Amino acid sequence: MITKNIDNNNKKYSNFVDKNENISYNVNKNDIQILPETKHAEHKLQNNNLIIKLNDCGFKNYATQVINCATSLTFSIQQHLETQELRRRLKYANFCKFRFCSTCGWRRNINLTRELLKAFLMIEAERPVKYLFLTLTIRNRPTNELKNAVKELNKAFERMSKWKVFKSAILGHFKALEILGDNTPSGEVHPHLHVLLVVPNAYYKSRNYIKQSKWVEIWQKALRTDYTPIVDIRPIRSKPNSKLSPLQSAVFEVAKYSTKLPKLVGQTDKDFKNIIKQTHKMRFYSTGGILKEKMNVELIDDDLIALSEEQEALWQELFEEIYQWQNGNYILREKIATRNLEND
Ligand SMILES: [Zn+2]
Repeated sequence: MITKNIDNNNKKYSNFVDKNENISYNVNKNDIQILPETKHAEHKLQNNNLIIKLNDCGFKNYATQVINCATSLTFSIQQHLETQELRRRLKYANFCKFRFCSTCGWRRNINLTRELLKAFLMIEAERPVKYLFLTLTIRNRPTNELKNAVKELNKAFERMSKWKVFKSAILGHFKALEILGDNTPSGEVHPHLHVLLVVPNAYYKSRNYIKQSKWVEIWQKALRTDYTPIVDIRPIRSKPNSKLSPLQSAVFEVAKYSTKLPKLVGQTDKDFKNIIKQTHKMRFYSTGGILKEKMNVELIDDDLIALSEEQEALWQELFEEIYQWQNGNYILREKIATRNLEND
């Protein structure tokens, strides 16, 4: 019987299950239960400095938006139909989707990693491939020129990706924009592209192979600059002693690049204002070639909860837990039975 299994598997839930004839069960206020997944609270707290900065710089609406992000989290407590294992899955949250929100950025990265892995697995099922990691830069610009600089970057990449030298070597790509470097001086932005390239397995022996000096040459030509831009190209391999496959390494490599919040919040008010204004509606990810057919980057931002449907079929929901943000933590407010266990 399911009730018994829950008791055996996880004592914490047994009180609730005993009373499951009640549809909803309000948690006793003296018995404060804090969300065991600390990451939600960590990201929520990391937003504090961002909220202060947004307020100081006159972005009151954005500040309110971030304050109200993920104030309520609903988890689905589920049991595996075969193994009886219990798990907690995020089911609903009021995410703010503000570009630089720490919580939303974390959820976006989870989505991105999953979608990239899915797409690459599909590609690998069709043919053996290798991965390269390409970084394309332009010279730093003042913060108020960020938007134009990004436009130039994207235009140059589009140009380059249409050339025969690129098309005959590269099967597909995923491109992520980053606007600040680790050592970007105050008053400047360093927009650059991190590009994950998919190449045929025989790329290194092929006559289409593009060596580093050639990458520099074609990137300069695409940018139409009189200076030599910095270009980095490297193969992606599993790191020694790493449990990750080359594919997983590739995905984590590219997904980890997003704007680092402390770096952004550390800007002067003037630069911060420029960056927030100039990145309005800016797109940070795009795909090309065979990756475009396998993956929809628009969806990454769309749904920050994203339960994978295939996996859900094996799990049945027992009840919901609703946590609310209060005094710097997520406190359990309510448990709701979603099915009557006694009828099983
Ligand atoms: Zn948010």
